[in-house]
Amino acid sequence: MADIMSKEARSHVMAQIKSKDTKPEALVRKRLFSMGLRYRKNDKRYPGRPDIVLPKHKAVVFVNGCFWHAHEGCPHFRMPKSRPEYWEPKLEKNKARDVVNAQTLREEGWKVIYVWECELSADKREERLARLYEEITGAVLEQDGTGAGDAGSSEDLGDLGDLGGMEDTRETENPKE
Ligand SMILES: [Zn+2]
Repeated sequence: MADIMSKEARSHVMAQIKSKDTKPEALVRKRLFSMGLRYRKNDKRYPGRPDIVLPKHKAVVFVNGCFWHAHEGCPHFRMPKSRPEYWEPKLEKNKARDVVNAQTLREEGWKVIYVWECELSADKREERLARLYEEITGAVLEQDGTGAGDAGSSEDLGDLGDLGGMEDTRETENPKE
């Protein structure tokens, strides 16, 4: 079989496979649950199949991989050096699709919240998740003095390490194509 994948693409795919059990969206869901929030997962009825839908708060959360969603200005997002003619339009298309989905959702009255993979690194995670709670509910998370993190298992994900390889479950195309 011809080697049609760039080195970058292969390392992304490999990282994807390794991170199957420790997906960032699973971490976010678990933590929201421990904060008392209830949600639906990847609801197909909504544009872009948001990772987390909270009907009670009329909020949707997308947990976005910095690579697949071309996180602008993010140190974890770099356009692959090889085969830019393949990657550039592909990632641009992903980004444009995200914008349209968010617009549609907002027009329908939904709060659209993004959590970027890079915001979930060990040093930023707690702050981000506490803020996420506020963004969803409009209320400040009640702290019991032990920190918001104790209810969930922040150890699950460990250090995300190279953040470039998060799998995007909404991405239907296969990079091998
Ligand atoms: Zn990022």
